[in-house]
Amino acid sequence: MTVQVPEIKLNENVKLNSKETALIIVDMQNDFCDEKGSLFVPESRKTIEPIQKLIEKAREKNVKIFYTQDTHKKDDKEFEIWPVHVVEGTWGWEIIPELKPTENDIIIRKLRYDGFYGTSLDHYLKIYNIRNLVIVGTVANICVLHTAGSAALRWYNIIVPIDGISALNEFDYYIALRQIDFLYKGILTKVEFIEFV
Ligand code: ZN
Repeated sequence: MTVQVPEIKLNENVKLNSKETALIIVDMQNDFCDEKGSLFVPESRKTIEPIQKLIEKAREKNVKIFYTQDTHKKDDKEFEIWPVHVVEGTWGWEIIPELKPTENDIIIRKLRYDGFYGTSLDHYLKIYNIRNLVIVGTVANICVLHTAGSAALRWYNIIVPIDGISALNEFDYYIALRQIDFLYKGILTKVEFIEFV
């Protein structure tokens, strides 16, 4: 069987109000993004530089930056599905040094794929009057997609630069793009096309 990817449009001119926009960096942690990590996503390495550029643009305009940090206890039920990963307090759990958060950033420790589920993310977005979420990180069809979907269900506008997300294979990567575009009416773009104004 051959699957064809439906056409997915990229928006090449995305201007976002700095005060109403937040950047959400999903799960860029050693276990996912370092080759020694327990659930390594090789493609995630290629997204580090675009994400660094996006962070730089965001910091210039005081755009709020959130990091999600997948966080599990040693005997987490998720380990019935996945190998042991991001156990709280371990090296694998830490955000990669290339994208180290600063003290002004907000780190959301998340329990499952969805960054909103059981966390304070929505609370912070509401008190900062955020409407637009630029979402990057890994894994594209797992935690990025669930977080983007959960945001869209809450009527946030979602913007996803396709050079800022990564998956374990191409099929999974395109599933994420298709769902963000078709189902959640998100804007797909590239880091270079995003401007915070
Ligand atoms: Zn997990």
